[in-house]
Amino acid sequence: MPDESTFADVLAANEEYAEGFPLAGLPSRAARGLAVLTCIDSRIEPLDMLGLRPGDAKILRNAGARVTDDVLRTLVLAHYLLGVERAMVIAHTDCRMAAGSEDDIHAAVSDAGGPDTRSLAFLVTSDQQATVREDVQRVRSWPYLSHLEAGGFLYDVATGRVAQVC
Ligand SMILES: [Zn+2]
Repeated sequence: MPDESTFADVLAANEEYAEGFPLAGLPSRAARGLAVLTCIDSRIEPLDMLGLRPGDAKILRNAGARVTDDVLRTLVLAHYLLGVERAMVIAHTDCRMAAGSEDDIHAAVSDAGGPDTRSLAFLVTSDQQATVREDVQRVRSWPYLSHLEAGGFLYDVATGRVAQVC
């Protein structure tokens, strides 16, 4: 167990949240039939930026908003069991995963005191629009997801605007 103080702030906030808990009884199916894959970047608010509320959509996040095997696995479940009929892949401007090569990221981790991470693929890109197109194509061509509508987008962290790529 980590030190008690490690999560004290968020657990205290949760006490208050649970007292007036507004989401009791919310169904687990996505009310708007939507899944959103976006980056872990903390400047992105996936619900607010799309006019969504809790219960509306399944939110998937990873570094760079990449369509990995685990994202495909999750979309299959979301599509067949949780009401998801459409999926947005939303990359964003000023993404660390589009700001250098794999080697640059390995070096940055090492410079930050981290271990040798060269056995990991961080899935960086030098062309975000091309990568979004390829990732969306991966969803569209996945045999288990042939009835899922997928689109690719780029979110501008400076303006809050989402532009469609494909
Ligand atoms: Zn990012």
